[in-house]
Amino acid sequence: MRVHVTYAGGTIGMVESVRGLVPGADVRTWLSEVAALAGLENSSIGFSQIEPPIDSSSAGPDQWRSLVENLTAHRDRADGFVVLHGTDTMAYATSALSFALASFGKPVVFTGSQLPARSAGSDAFSNMAGALSAVLSGRAEGVSLFFGRHLFRGNRVIKRSTWDFEGFESPCAAPLACAGAPWEWAGVDAVCSGWPDPLPFRRCDIAVVDIVPGISVARLETVLDPLPEAVLVRAYGVGNAPVGEPGFSEPFERLFASGVPIVICSQCAQASVALGRYEASTAFPREGAVGARDMTFEAAYAKAAFLLSQGFRGREFLRWMERSIAGELG
Ligand code: ASP
Repeated sequence: MRVHVTYAGGTIGMVESVRGLVPGADVRTWLSEVAALAGLENSSIGFSQIEPPIDSSSAGPDQWRSLVENLTAHRDRADGFVVLHGTDTMAYATSALSFALASFGKPVVFTGSQLPARSAGSDAFSNMAGALSAVLSGRAEGVSLFFGRHLFRGNRVIKRSTWDFEGFESPCAAPLACAGAPWEWAGVDAVCSGWPDPLPFRRCDIAVVDIVPGISVARLETVLDPLPEAVLVRAYGVGNAPVGEPGFSEPFERLFASGVPIVICSQCAQASVALGRYEASTAFPREGAVGARDMTFEAAYAKAAFLLSQGFRGREFLRWMERSIAGELG
């Protein structure tokens, strides 16, 4: 089986500098050491790097586009792919690529680490070996993320810890597999529409509104001016907001009148957004907003960027938000 490893950046390949951790390690040499130690020297493992490798805090649609181009360019030369990526925005990247690669047809497993690969006690080796095992098992599908002991669906995952070696979790979906001797695999029954020939990611203007106790209408209006292309609201619970605040729904009514789609997410990691369950969700226009249901915020944001990049607006955008493209909805 042929595996291709693409290094995009992140702690796994970082070294100390006077300004703090920066990319700069020889990841290719380290990878061949991992392959030998894991007994994989007979598997064919290719390597490439996104230039320049970055801290994933600087990643966005431009880097997602580079990753899609890299994987597509190597598609016919490998049976499966591992992407080494920083953990800070890995859940956004795995979500974004799950949409762009919904019809790719080969497994892509992301991983990274909490400590640089050459640091004592690093989790890099076990994460890399786990990601390679997931690909070589022939059972991984779509875009997934291996970290700690678990393989997760890429668009159902969130970063939960800055230090725990189990740094990710999938609050609304069971892990795809748990590493062990042998690995335990769960059944895969996600609904995926696929997406042949997606247009490349572009940088979109998506406003994110975080509802907090005491938020003023004036602050809300500032965040929404000028009009963005889409709005994601992080609301309370199942999609609630301060309806008792005079004028609170007016900025959202204006968005609706201008055709700007509104997606209501929850501040709860484990959520099922249900607009209409409480009066407190009437702050949002019934026609112009949809709930993200059990999508992670990261998946909803990456999906919004994907749909805008495909040219969708208004109702068409909202219709796709409610439809599973790559298993992002339960
Ligand atoms: N700041 C790093 C990054 O996301 C953190 C990490 O990789 O763990 O690139």
